[in-house]
Amino acid sequence: MARRGLLIILSSPSGAGKSTLAKRLMAWDPTLKFSVSATTRAPRPGEVDGREYFFKTKPEFEAMVAAGGMLEHAEVFGNFYGTPKGPVETAMAEGRDTLFDIDWQGGQQIRRSTLAKDVVSIFILPPSIADLESRLRGRAQDSDEVIAGRMAKSRDEISHWGEYDYVIINHDVDTAEAELKTILTAERARADRRPGLTEFVRGLNKEFEAR
Ligand code: 5GP
Repeated sequence: MARRGLLIILSSPSGAGKSTLAKRLMAWDPTLKFSVSATTRAPRPGEVDGREYFFKTKPEFEAMVAAGGMLEHAEVFGNFYGTPKGPVETAMAEGRDTLFDIDWQGGQQIRRSTLAKDVVSIFILPPSIADLESRLRGRAQDSDEVIAGRMAKSRDEISHWGEYDYVIINHDVDTAEAELKTILTAERARADRRPGLTEFVRGLNKEFEAR
């Protein structure tokens, strides 16, 4: 019997390096499935519908929620964001792990759902607020006003760090990446997540008996 797929939730304030770390984790393990969220916010330059997000109008988004199609949803920066349920259920049934880049509200909703035991949640902290701000500005994608809004939201996001299973301080992206891989490797090796082991150990016992 294959194990159920894990739900790996990554949260952090904007600018803490979460997207870079998510990309690196996906490159390290191509079996991971990235959960593409739906959002009502406008695409940024370079973003492709269906890759970074499914870009929806507000009525379309509301219809998805009303139809029970969202695993979780929340309002972030005045826009709606949500996780479509179907792809997650498929990945779990196939024993594939899914990676989520969602905020604390989404993390909380999934952790409080019936899927709680399959969740591994990781919070990424910036080394300092000065660093967070310079990374946000370095992206040069958002206006000053948007950046100020994101900084204000960051404090709120950071206040939820204690709800997560793991916390990584992103002093250095290579070190943070290594920590992330270690967490995933350890979580996958947990005895309660390895139903196939019963069969494996039965084989070991047969070998003992045959000696
Ligand atoms: P951005 O607009 O910069 O791509 O994302 C803004 C914030 O929304 C980020 O903190 C991101 O993690 C969060 N977010 C993205 N997708 C979802 C989602 O499906 N659900 C929730 N709750 N948050 C999301």
